[in-house]
Amino acid sequence: MTNPELRVADAIREVSVAMQRAIADGYRSRMIDADDLIEVLLSIADRLDPPVPDTTNHVGCPCPDCGTADADRLIWIDDDFVRCDSCGTIFDPTDGGP
Ligand SMILES: [Zn+2]
Repeated sequence: MTNPELRVADAIREVSVAMQRAIADGYRSRMIDADDLIEVLLSIADRLDPPVPDTTNHVGCPCPDCGTADADRLIWIDDDFVRCDSCGTIFDPTDGGP
């Protein structure tokens, strides 16, 4: 059995390394604000307890580009086409179907 405190320590180390890399690569500023702090804390929580994808409102015709199947992220823009909120692809959900 793994020690839960070690898992917490590992999660904090992994997120810290990712943050340091992002700062070194110039993706992140050295100045942090409340939003950054919340993002870091949530990243640690996600490593310890990965969010379980909710598949209850998934559609049968996911986005052909990124695979998003969440009905809340696939928006009908007219009678024929759907826009994927995740990647912006517009597709015909009946195209290529059975
Ligand atoms: Zn998509």
